[in-house]
Amino acid sequence: MTVLRALFCSALIAALLFLPVNSIGQQMAADSPQLAGYAAQSSPSEIALEKKFRDGIVPADIRENMRRLSARPHHVGSPYDKDNAEWILAQFKAWGFDAHIETFQVLFPTPKERVVELLRPTQFKAKLAESPVAVDPTSNQTSEQLPTYNAYSGDGDVTAPLVYVNYGNREDYEQLDRLGISVKGAIVIARYGEGWRGIKPKVAGEHGAVGCIIYSDPQGDGYFQGAEYPAGGWRPRDGVQRGSVMDTDYPGDPLTPGIGATENAKRLPIKDVKTITKIPVLPISSADAQPLLASLSGPVAAEPWRGALPITYRIGPGSGIVHLKVTSNWDIKPVYDVIATLHGSDDAAQWVIRGNHHDAWVNGADDPISGQSEMLEEARMLGELHKQGWTPKRTIIYCAWDGEEPGLLGSTEWVETHVEDLQKHAVTYLNSDSNERGIFFAGGTEDLEKLVSSAARDVQDPETKMTVYERSRLYRIGAEKDPEKRGEIRKRNDLEIFMLGDGSDFTAFQDFAGIPALDMEFGGEDEGDQYHSIYDDFYWYTHFVDTDFSYGRALAQTAGTVILRLADADLIPVDYSPQADAIAKYESDLEKLLKDKQDETAEQNLELQEGVFKASADPHKTFVPPPQEAVPPFMNFSPLKNAIERLKKSADLYSQALAKWKAQGSPAIPQQSLDLVNADVMRVSRLFLNQQGLPERPWFKNQVYAPGAYTGYGAKPIAAVREYMDEKKWKEAEGQIPQVAQVIENVSAGIDQAAADLDKAIAPRN
Ligand SMILES: [Zn+2]
Repeated sequence: MTVLRALFCSALIAALLFLPVNSIGQQMAADSPQLAGYAAQSSPSEIALEKKFRDGIVPADIRENMRRLSARPHHVGSPYDKDNAEWILAQFKAWGFDAHIETFQVLFPTPKERVVELLRPTQFKAKLAESPVAVDPTSNQTSEQLPTYNAYSGDGDVTAPLVYVNYGNREDYEQLDRLGISVKGAIVIARYGEGWRGIKPKVAGEHGAVGCIIYSDPQGDGYFQGAEYPAGGWRPRDGVQRGSVMDTDYPGDPLTPGIGATENAKRLPIKDVKTITKIPVLPISSADAQPLLASLSGPVAAEPWRGALPITYRIGPGSGIVHLKVTSNWDIKPVYDVIATLHGSDDAAQWVIRGNHHDAWVNGADDPISGQSEMLEEARMLGELHKQGWTPKRTIIYCAWDGEEPGLLGSTEWVETHVEDLQKHAVTYLNSDSNERGIFFAGGTEDLEKLVSSAARDVQDPETKMTVYERSRLYRIGAEKDPEKRGEIRKRNDLEIFMLGDGSDFTAFQDFAGIPALDMEFGGEDEGDQYHSIYDDFYWYTHFVDTDFSYGRALAQTAGTVILRLADADLIPVDYSPQADAIAKYESDLEKLLKDKQDETAEQNLELQEGVFKASADPHKTFVPPPQEAVPPFMNFSPLKNAIERLKKSADLYSQALAKWKAQGSPAIPQQSLDLVNADVMRVSRLFLNQQGLPERPWFKNQVYAPGAYTGYGAKPIAAVREYMDEKKWKEAEGQIPQVAQVIENVSAGIDQAAADLDKAIAPRN
């Protein structure tokens, strides 16, 4: 304890010593500015330009954009979805962008029949509808609202006993196994939360369930958290979370994996589509769920499985029989991507891309219009600067995506259509989606970590008046429970960037096309949640979320600064050292995972031999001990470790070349040399790809960055190895190591080339 306290104190002292240095650093930056990637002569004008940009962002504009775009429901295929796209197009054009709408034809199911009813022991028919709220003027646009459903549920009509499966994750089924409860032939009911909703029907189907109901427990986002809407901002008891359950083999249009869903694209027949769920699934409210859950008998759910409904949570099955019916209209619908270009000057062939979706499940004030509205305000201000005479060096492309909600349709189809051009021209992709009050978070590829922190240091948090950077840094220290990790945060010079999994429009850029990606948001301090319901609208957002749009302004300032800094830099401002360190950590996590699995399995086998499980279980209750398992064998990680050692050296070489340039006073570099180094830098990120893709998900080409097949939103670094380990396929996992190592070797070679060319560029030949 004393040791820990001493460690904690020294870390604290170090942190305190650190603070003044940091603020002095900032002071100096203000006096003698020097932006990373900028020659000494181009830095001051850029800093002035960025300041002008940030000062020009107007919260009232963001508010007005939101009012306009969320005024009516605007899901894929709805009249207002198209209307919004055309309005956004007109805005971009008025601001001086070269803009057009690109249309794709995608499979988008809408509900035809939906039934959830309890047939025995009592009868109850679920309402499957959200009620309008008197004070909320858009909540009664009933004829335009999509009914509550999960898009890409398979059609089905099933009658079966019900079983409660907690969140419906893989681990939950292991618990059910211990209780001797099978879901074979049953309909499962799972609560929302703990991972992506599409995993729930997937895992249920794998365990033999014939149907899946997902409900919003008040513990997650309802009255357990705070007052229900409209008294407070929390989900009312008949609020329902819509959402896609499309499987994650590949995102985008289910009929055209890997290619753009253009008019004449070759399409799969629906029966061959693997991403539609095998069993029917419907989302319901807590009000509809309560009688179903109350009908269950069987064992009482353990404490972690209980929600906040006023019932005893039981697992089932019981005498209760439930009827679930779901059918959809399987129509092809258009999606309208708005693509707006501000052409660059010297480096026009290098594209800095920015995007946010515009489609919603219903009115979608928060998701996605909060992000879309601030992104448009960025674009307005860039247009303003352009009218005043500024032209970016690189080409800036703003994208308002359609069809994100059903399955990243608009962005994925656009990337698939233009992948060759994108791989030639794209520098980075910066995404946003919902934005709320609170702390700044960024995800992405770590080569952009320093850039993000540098921008966050230049923006003020609207409420605490600290810099966005400092508030986020201090928040992370406070939130971290592990003293060692806390110490690491204190030592870091930059905010850690979280690896992106899935769940918004960055996916195709990063995972399919090898383009460095970022995703940014503020959040965590909202007084409510109406995710994917009719109540996520302008009235709710302006009463309970970012009511004065000051965090919309902060995101526009942060994201816009990143875009400007990328667009005008002489050298694309990447730094590979944080990336090499992160990849080293991903590798050591794999080794730790193996060690933990070995230890756990050995312990479990020992306890089985000793009879621990039998002795501990209540003889009156059913308990099935886990099976004996083979202890995982050792794996040879050496090829990967050697490759990562080389990667660190390469990253160092590049950092040294940058430092050398800085030590020389960052003199201007001839355009030809800049072109060479920037082309090298753009190539490095493509080298993370491997054309055969992940072994079981070939659409995902990136060998370091990928979402997990069973986590959805969550990231699975080095997925080729990691996923086989999760499936206990140790030989297959080990078999993937050499080729991932090869990819990392390729990346190292690419960075070496960039470092060599930079070295040449800054050391004039004698
Ligand atoms: Zn969204």
